[in-house]
Formats: sequence, C-alpha cells, structure tokens
Amino acid sequence: MDGSANRTRVVIVGGGTAGWMTAAALVKLLPTRCSVRLVESEAIGIVGVGEATLPHIRAFNERLGIPEAEFMATTRATFKLGIEFVNWGRIGDSYIHPFGTFGRGTGEPDFHQYWLRLRQAGLTVPELEDYSLACTMARLNRFQLPSADPADIASTFGYAYQFDATLFAPYLRRFAETLGALRTEGRVVGVDRDGESGDVTAIRMENGELIEGDLFVDCSGFVSLLLGKALGEPFQDWSKWLPADRATAMPCRTETALTPYTGVIAMEAGWRWRIPLQHRTGNGYVYSSDFLSHEKAAEALISAVEGEPIAEPRVLRFKAGRRERSWVGNCVAVGLASGFLEPLESTSIYLIQAAITALVELFPDGAVSPVLRDEFNRLIDLEYDRIRDFLILHYHATERTDSEFWNYTRTMSIPDSLAEKMELFRRRGRVVKYREGVFLDASWIAVYLGQRVIPQGHDLRADAPPAEALLRAMDALRGEIRTRVEAMPDHVGHIARYCPMAA
Ligand SMILES: Cc1cc2nc3c(=O)[nH]c(=O)nc-3n(C[C@H](O)[C@H](O)[C@H](O)COP(=O)(O)OP(=O)(O)OC[C@H]3O[C@@H](n4cnc5c(N)ncnc54)[C@H](O)[C@@H]3O)c2cc1C
Repeated sequence: MDGSANRTRVVIVGGGTAGWMTAAALVKLLPTRCSVRLVESEAIGIVGVGEATLPHIRAFNERLGIPEAEFMATTRATFKLGIEFVNWGRIGDSYIHPFGTFGRGTGEPDFHQYWLRLRQAGLTVPELEDYSLACTMARLNRFQLPSADPADIASTFGYAYQFDATLFAPYLRRFAETLGALRTEGRVVGVDRDGESGDVTAIRMENGELIEGDLFVDCSGFVSLLLGKALGEPFQDWSKWLPADRATAMPCRTETALTPYTGVIAMEAGWRWRIPLQHRTGNGYVYSSDFLSHEKAAEALISAVEGEPIAEPRVLRFKAGRRERSWVGNCVAVGLASGFLEPLESTSIYLIQAAITALVELFPDGAVSPVLRDEFNRLIDLEYDRIRDFLILHYHATERTDSEFWNYTRTMSIPDSLAEKMELFRRRGRVVKYREGVFLDASWIAVYLGQRVIPQGHDLRADAPPAEALLRAMDALRGEIRTRVEAMPDHVGHIARYCPMAA
C-alpha cells in the first residue's frame, strides 16, 4: 500500500524559483505524505532575476541529491566566495564579505579580537582580509573545493553559486516532474474559500477548471495571489529603512576577469550588481525612485557596465517588507509572495530555502496544526528581521555625503535591534550571537569594519598572549594563507575542468 489516499494534496501556485524549489523538495523529501500539483502561467512568466546565492543552497541541493557539476553546467554557474563591496563607507573603499572565517575560525576569543587589540595598541597590522582564506582566494581569483579536514586552513571557507536564474527553475522542474509532480499550464483567476474556516478550498483557472487541494503554497511572486490578495494578510512596509524600490537590469558580455565573487558597487542613489556567469555577466542598478529617475539609472548602468550590452535595460519594481504572517490557515507563501528584501546580500533564494525547510519539517499530518503553523511563522519572522537589520547596516554605516540618497540613509533612524547590535560592536567588537539565522559572526565583522564601524575596545581575553608572540603567529598565518592560495588553480581553470557549460 502506498498510502496515496492519505496524502495531503498540495497545490502550488507559481512556477518561478520558489514554486519549483518547493515542488522539488516536497516530492523528494515527503514522497509518501503528499501529492504535488503546480500551476503556472507562461504568459505571465517569472521574475527571472536572482543570480547570486548563499552557501546554504548547497545543502538544499545535497538534500535533494542534485549532482553539483551537472547543476552548475546546466545553469552556467560560477563559484562565489563572497561579495566585494565598493564605495560603501567612502568612495574608493573596497572590502569583501567572505563566506568563511577570519583566522582559523577556532578558539576563543574570535580571531578579530586579537587583531583589534594590536591595532588599538597603535601597532601596524595588515588588513583583516589578509587573514581570511576566502578573501585571499577572491582577491587572487583562485578557486578549489574546500578541504574536508577541519585542521586544514583550506577548510575555512564555504562557497555558493552565481547562476542563470532563467535556467534554474526549468532544471528543478525536470527534477520534480520525474519524481511525480504534476504541472498545469494556465492563469489562476479566482480563489474559493470555506465559508466557516476561511481556508482555501480550490483555485479557479481561466478555462473554468477548479483545482482543489488540502494545502496551498503561494509562489505567485510579487502579486501574492493567495496570501496577499485572497486572504488579505497585511504587508509590513520597511521602505523607510530600505528605500530602494526599483532595479534596472541589463546583461553584458564578459570582457573582464570571471571573478569568484559578486560585485556590489555603491552608486548615487543605491548600488549596482555585477555577477559573472559562464556565458555572460549580469548587471543591475538597484535604486530609490524618490532620489533617481529611471532614465538616469539606466544611463548610469549603461556607462558603468564592463562589457558590450546584450539586452536593453529592463525595469523591476518592488517594495521592501513582508506579509505579517507567511502561513495563514491552509495557505503558505514562499518566495516573493511572502515578502522581499532587496538583493544586496543575495538573500531571497535563501529565504525560499528557509521556508521550504521549515515547511518540510512542520508539514501537516492531516489538518493544519496551529502550533506547527505558529512555529513556522516564528522561524520566518526571525529570518526576515535579522536579514533586514543586516541590510540596513550597509546603508546606515556610511560616511558618504555626496548625494541626497546617502544623506538620507546615513541620518535615518534605524530599528532598535540594529542600534543595539552596533553599540555592542563599537564597545567591544562583539557580534550578537544567534542560534538560528543566516549571517554569522564573520559576515557582521566584515561589514562593520569594511564600513568603518570601528570598535573602541576588544575582548579582554585577547590581551593574554605577549604582543611579540601574537604578531609572529599572525604573520605565520597570513603567510600560510597566501602560500596555499597561490598554489590553487584559477577560477576559470577550475570551472573548465569541473563544470563547463555545454557549448
Ligand atoms: C532586481 C532583483 C534582483 C534579484 N537578485 C537576486 C539575487 O541575486 N539572489 C537572490 O537570491 N534573489 C534575488 N532576487 C529575488 C529572486 O529573483 C526571487 O526570490 C526568485 O526569483 C523567486 O521568485 P518567485 O518564484 O517568488 O516569483 P516569480 O519568479 O515572479 O514567479 C511567480 C510565478 O507565479 C506565476 N503566476 C503569477 N500569477 C499567476 C496567475 N494568476 N496564474 C498562474 N500563475 C501565476 C508566474 O507565472 C510565475 O510562474 C532578485 C529580485 C529582484 C527583483
């Protein structure tokens, strides 16, 4: 008996990255507990951007059994060791937010505390970046897979991918359909609800078909067809802290180095991304329409890109914030239907993954349990709130005074939760610790220091070793990192051997 009579009938509305990631995970991980039907409209299409990811995506692919080299070749992916931020603290500044530790990442206190101690004593010490394997690899354009030996310095980094967003969902679609997900083409024009509970009972298609289900996953993108429109879940607007509300995107040929990192360059009224893929470079200018017109943004993007454009600039509109609850009744929103935080730290696909992980772990066994649903909402709230604070930090911790946009973000009031975190770092170089959530210490340290939030003090345990011995040990570490990285293959060479795209 396969138990199909007891399976939860899941209806997913939307076939973008969120829809097909959800479908793939459900058919793979809960094959005996649910049936999956996904509805999408080719005429409406998908948002089609979303090219930079976080290392967590590797765990998602591994859980699904997706072979890395095949996945990278199909989506024309490159490796990503972090993000280079240019012109954020001051014009001319550059720092890397690495996917990896500073120092070896072991031992107490954290490595940067020793570095702070020496700097605060007035000693000349190289930049913190020089003690990070991931930063050094990125700067020297090298790549190899991490070592599995935790004692090896080459184990101190992680990596993510930069891929073609328009190829990812089709790849997952093939995967999910092979495992039994059903796809229906067409436009959803109505949502039926139970008169008493308010639960969604069915969606109505343009051709008159009624699709019934037990659990509805809203992956309809910004329109938020079920959670926002049909159920009316309120939207928390965060644009006073994250004022960017437009992006103009334009790919170009790759005519410069294929870097193993995403470039994020601060501009007059926002920032520009540069994401090198195997076959082209993705570019876009994320800006606030209160401070810049579309024409000016497109002009600035066209004159900044480093290769020949291969499409006209395309505008995308959005608003920072999220639905108050992502799971209401028997409807769960995943992806843009649940909220949007701008792509500065490549967090959207991560948020999709976090929602899917929580949904799989808390999947209803029969009727939806309010306790499990509330836990889902708690986990998603935490993710959104922490990412929100991290993003605001980038805008607020700046010394730029050269445009109205930067004057606004530098002087705006910030959430108390972020003000407290910044104060703690200024006092002692300490990062607020979490048990759950995406960005760990090294991420916060990189952005704080990279944007000139300089601590006055340090962890007093860092005073224990004699300064001479400490300097020698740090020099040795820096040398070891440099030697290891210089012996690694370059990024392009590694891709050519490991995961070249089909010609
Ligand atoms: C400018 C920009 C840059 C970004 N960069 C990144 C990045 O670098 N990294 C990252 O992680 N994320 C990024 N994102 C976010 C990322 O693009 C999205 O999180 C991701 O693509 C998921 O989108 P989605 O599946 O939720 O929505 P969509 O791609 O919009 O898909 C919605 C689906 O719903 C369907 N649909 C809608 N209405 C109906 C209807 N009435 N009937 C039937 N079907 C319907 C559509 O056809 C489509 O299939 C970026 C977003 C923007 C705007």
